[in-house]
Amino acid sequence: MYVTGEIHEDTRSHFGYEIAIEDIEVVGESEEYPITPKEHGTDFLMDHRHLWLRSSKQFAIMKVRNEMIRATYEFFAQEGFTKLDAPILTGSAPEGTSELFHTEYFDRDAYLSQSGQLYAEAGAMAYGKVFTFGPTFRAEKSKTRRHLIEFWMIEPEMAFMHQEESLEIQEKYVAFLVQNVLDHCDYELDILGRDKETLRKYTQLPFPRVSYDEAIELLQASGEFPDTKWGDDFGSPEETYLANHFEKPVFVVNYPKAIKPFYMKPHPTREDLVICADMLAPEGYGEIIGGSERETDSVKLEAEIKKAGLDLKDYEWYLDLRRYGSVPHSGFGLGLERAVTWITGESHIREAIPFPRLLNRIYP
Ligand code: ATP
Ligand code: MG
Ligand code: MG
Ligand code: MG
Repeated sequence: MYVTGEIHEDTRSHFGYEIAIEDIEVVGESEEYPITPKEHGTDFLMDHRHLWLRSSKQFAIMKVRNEMIRATYEFFAQEGFTKLDAPILTGSAPEGTSELFHTEYFDRDAYLSQSGQLYAEAGAMAYGKVFTFGPTFRAEKSKTRRHLIEFWMIEPEMAFMHQEESLEIQEKYVAFLVQNVLDHCDYELDILGRDKETLRKYTQLPFPRVSYDEAIELLQASGEFPDTKWGDDFGSPEETYLANHFEKPVFVVNYPKAIKPFYMKPHPTREDLVICADMLAPEGYGEIIGGSERETDSVKLEAEIKKAGLDLKDYEWYLDLRRYGSVPHSGFGLGLERAVTWITGESHIREAIPFPRLLNRIYP
């Protein structure tokens, strides 16, 4: 519709202006609109996602998402990173095939990327500090409010960086995202009813660090997790408990080697651990970031690849990154939609991406 009229200041309006309407011209007619103010079920709304995007709440979430993407580029540019894109079609199965999407690549097999990390490592060995940002795919067979089948991941990789320096970049980046959303999305946060005081706490650095060993002790001492024992990976209840305990994003550092991927560097004095960290978000949002130091020794790495049951010939190029000169390096991955869900305070990740791919949904 085209609206003609005089614009004048009016403090009652959120934007500070009102239009005194003189004429309205209908530009495009509409059939009876399917989304009405009454309550609709999630399936109905998801079937109409292409129209649902027009509602003010969805608009607000997409604006926050957009601001986080903009701030991501600003942050990594200001920190001296180069954006290096990883391929989406890959010829090997990096971390086992259970969550991989298979496709045909002319007369051979290919898979949709689960992570750009291994390619980012090549970038870090070439240019120092790089990040990849692109869609990643995981055939997650369970329905949770934190998992999408297709999601966007930001994966920085840094040469000459050990864990603590990587954690400092991570917390600075996350605080920067929150601060920019506070600064540039005030109206959107109001639409979403997101408590800004809570968000402001997440801009206060540093974020606490606890070791995996201490995390297990905390969980056991709480009395809420009678079955949790050393060596277990954390599920959603454990992650929720830990981050809520600190009321801030918290780093859990140095997990057992047995539950982490082959490329992580072992702890120098504790053979059963790797040098890694997950950042867990409070308010029940769980793991936002996973990261680690990487193994730099080609002989040790080769042994780990074999132990993981992976095909060595797929990793010759990755081993070359060590054979032909490697330096200590670390990296991490932040799931964009996880972070959007947390910062907007939404209850389900499906609204944090324009057209979500879920276990039973690939329409529209
Ligand atoms: P989770 O334990 O929650 O399944 P993960 O440990 O499998 O996550 P990573 O492989 O460490 O995930 O990926 C890095 C980041 O990508 C995670 O910290 C999270 O923010 C995000 N992520 C992982 N899987 C998904 C998914 N299916 N949907 C949306 N974001 C995801
Ligand atoms: Mg997972
Ligand atoms: Mg995890
Ligand atoms: Mg992880």
